[in-house]
Formats: sequence, structure tokens, C-alpha cells
Amino acid sequence: MTPDETSAWQRLCPLPMAQLDPLPAIARHLDHPDTARRLAAADAGRTPPDDVLADLREIGVAAVYDPASATAVHVNALNAQAARHSGSLAITLGVNALALLPLCIAGTPQQRDRAGAVLRGGGAAAMLLTELEHGSNLARTGTRADAVDGGYRLTGEKHLINGGTWHDLLITLARLADTDRFGLFLAERDDTVTALPRWRTLPAVAADISGVRFAGTPAQPIGTPGDGLTILQLTLALSRGGIGSLASGAASGALAAAVRYARERDVYGEPIVHLGAIAEHLVRAAALDVLVAATAVKATFLINALGPAAAYAAAVAKYACCELAEQAVTEGRAVLGSRALVEEFGYAARVRDVLLYGVFDGTRHILLDQLQWRLERFAAGSDRSGDGYPVLAEAYSGTPQPLVRAARLRLRPYAPGPAARAATLAARTCRPGVAALGVLFTRLVDLVG
Ligand SMILES: Cc1cc2nc3c(=O)[nH]c(=O)nc-3n(C[C@H](O)[C@H](O)[C@H](O)COP(=O)(O)OP(=O)(O)OC[C@H]3O[C@@H](n4cnc5c(N)ncnc54)[C@H](O)[C@@H]3O)c2cc1C
Repeated sequence: MTPDETSAWQRLCPLPMAQLDPLPAIARHLDHPDTARRLAAADAGRTPPDDVLADLREIGVAAVYDPASATAVHVNALNAQAARHSGSLAITLGVNALALLPLCIAGTPQQRDRAGAVLRGGGAAAMLLTELEHGSNLARTGTRADAVDGGYRLTGEKHLINGGTWHDLLITLARLADTDRFGLFLAERDDTVTALPRWRTLPAVAADISGVRFAGTPAQPIGTPGDGLTILQLTLALSRGGIGSLASGAASGALAAAVRYARERDVYGEPIVHLGAIAEHLVRAAALDVLVAATAVKATFLINALGPAAAYAAAVAKYACCELAEQAVTEGRAVLGSRALVEEFGYAARVRDVLLYGVFDGTRHILLDQLQWRLERFAAGSDRSGDGYPVLAEAYSGTPQPLVRAARLRLRPYAPGPAARAATLAARTCRPGVAALGVLFTRLVDLVG
């Protein structure tokens, strides 16, 4: 198969897509030229792709997110598939999985059932963390949760919220009134909730990114009130693998568009794919596409097997996949030349959309900070034993397990030392380059030590 027929995520996934119902039907629908036309029209008009979303609901997309049936493998496969076609569609769908993770981690069966019923009825979920004044520093969250009549009421304003205008289930981080403790709350849109004007974003232009104002909105705590930041930490440990899969879809979509263009565009009597410079851009984009997909699939299967203990792999995926997908899109941009900069030819949306993945769910700096912390642990020596191979092999051979189960696992963090991993890979592949990489890692860890 060539890159324009199937994505790298799909090729590297150890399970055939046919076993991940309803993804094959969703893939067929997204591959249809009419769907592509409607997604492009939604972007051109900056209006959410409601008709495509309605088609996908008809196909059964809600089962991918419904806490009763969701698995990390299904969620991330859909992320990759949707992002291959449209950033706006991908994040409009993807936010459901992100928002419902706290319910998988700490929600009650009643809360999960309610969320499933809303999704199956055509509704959607949003995750409300960001406040304009406080940005990445969630410990400054100003939205309040007041205990009233045995429940809670939310007051405050959130911004840059994906689904802020329409989504029904509002999973919200709020400060417990007059304390330094925070809770995650499940609220539902009612007449105490005001949707604030949409923001005009550079990426994902058709997505509904807006503000939300709460004025005494009834809400239930997810887990113990006061544990909000802990549940959020566990949520991000899982969701960041999903962002890697969004980035993987973006890289595959860009590569497919660039390959198609290079095979068709003829300015000298034969397609430009025969020009050495163009072929080089394509080879680099193809290599990046595989690297991004490998990292995203690895995080996905480790999360499926280990839950939050896969946080390190998820953080690597979030950082590396976003960074390398941007490079892949840039290689494709060089293939399309001026047409990559003209909206009507379609590639411009890919150039804009890929920029989003490195920013939400923790910016690149915050992820680097986490990875730096891990490097210090490697240098402290405790992680040098073992290469993690048996755990990884078992994760790859596992079947998708309910996210509700994976999210509640509390296992020892999986973070094998990179030098030991490289040594195992070198022994298995007999590639001198991999052995050299192992030596470099050892030197790096020694230097940090
Ligand atoms: C299209 C879009 C959709 C979004 N969807 C949602 C959503 O659904 N829900 C939601 O809650 N939010 C959402 N966001 C908000 C997004 O998550 C925040 O923009 C992001 O968390 C960063 O906050 P900030 O932009 O205010 O940056 P700031 O916190 O103001 O950061 C500014 C700069 O400082 C850096 N920085 C911050 N902290 C550190 C640190 N500790 N160390 C080093 N550098 C640091 C950042 O990397 C950044 O470069 C969305 C944003 C966009 C653009």
C-alpha cells in the first residue's frame, strides 16, 4: 500500500483495522470525495462540520467515546483517522474522549451512564480548564465551586474551549470556594450557562472554540471534591498519547497530499516526483510519518495495557509526534510550493492545523519540563536496569481493554532507560547506528548525572 491509500498509524497498528469496529465504516466515509468537499466547505465558511458529524453519529462514532465501550486503541485510531482529513473535525470529535477521561478515572457508574446516554442521543462533551488570565497555571483557576444543598454550583468563566458553544457535558476544573483545593465537576448546559463569542483561530478554523460563563450552574464532583488536580494529572497521562495520534494523522494526511501532487503536477514534461529535490522532500516526509506513527502507536498500546503508568510514553508521544509532524507538513509544503499557501488548494489548512497539537493538553515547554525530570531520574540510576522489552511486547500483543479498566490501573511507571532500550534494539537489528545511539544515551545520562 502507498501512503495515499492508508495511514502509517494504520499500517503500524498491531491489530487489523477491521477488528476495530466502527472505524472501518468511519474510514470509508471520510475517504469519500463528497465528505472531503464538505469538510473543506466547513473550513472555508468557518462553520463546524455539522453534516459530517451527523453522518458519523449515524455510523456509530459515539461508541468510540462512550465510557461504557471506549478503549484507548479505538479512541486513538479515530484521532489519527480524523486528523488525516481535517483538523477541525479531528478536534471536534477528539475533545469528547479527552473530556470523558475523568469519568473513566474517577466517575461513578451513574455519571458514566448519563454521559453515554447524552452521547448516544447526539450530544457531545467539552473539557473546561483554561482561563484567559491564568493559561498553563491551572493552580490559579478562578472558577468557583460552592457547596449548595448537598451539591455544587459553578461560577466563573472559561475560554478557548473546544465545543464551548454547543457541547452539552461540561467537564470543568473549579476551585472549591475559599480554599486552595480544586475539583473536576460534571455540569450540563442549561440556562445558567452562557456561551461567549467564538474565537477566530489559526488552526482548526471550523471548530467551535469559544468561551463559557457559569452563573450558579449545578454540578457534580467527579471523584472526591478536592482531588481535581490529581485526576487531571491522570487524565493528561492518558490523553497525551491521543494527541500523538492526532499529530500522526496530520503527518499522514500531509504526506498523502504531497505524494498525490508530486505524481500529478507536470511542469517540465513529466511529473515533478522525478525531480531529485522533490523526491528528497517526499522521502523525508515519509520517514517522519513512520516515526510519528510508531511513537503514537507505542504510546497507545502502552496506555491500553498499563493505564496512567504509561505517562512517560504518552509525554514522549505528545512532544515528539507534534514536533515531527510539523516537520513532515513542512516537507510537504516544499513539494506543493505556492499552492501550499493558497487556501483553495487545500494544503494550507494542513499547514495551519498541525500547529495546534503542540499547544493544547500541555504546551511543548511543559512537556519538555516533564521529560527533563525523567532524564534526571535516569541519571539517578534507578531506571538503568531492564530494557522494558517484555512489557512492551506484551502491550503490543494485547487486545483493546475498556478505558474504564485501563484508566483505573495503578501500576509501576513504565520508563525503561533509553540506553538499555537502544542496546536491545542494537542486538536485535545488528545496526551499528542503533548501537551508537545507545552509547550517546549513556553519555547523555552520565553527563546529566
Ligand atoms: C484551538 C484551541 C483549542 C483549545 N481547546 C481547549 C479546550 O478544549 N479546553 C481548554 O481548557 N483549553 C483549550 N485550549 C487552551 C490551551 O490548552 C491553552 O492555550 C494552553 O494550555 C496554554 O495556555 P496559554 O496559551 O494561555 O499559554 P501561557 O500559559 O500564557 O504560556 C505562554 C508561553 O509560556 C510557556 N510556558 C507556560 N508555562 C511554562 C512552564 N512551566 N515552563 C516553561 N514554559 C512555560 C508556554 O509554553 C507558552 O509558550 C485551546 C487552545 C486552542 C488554541
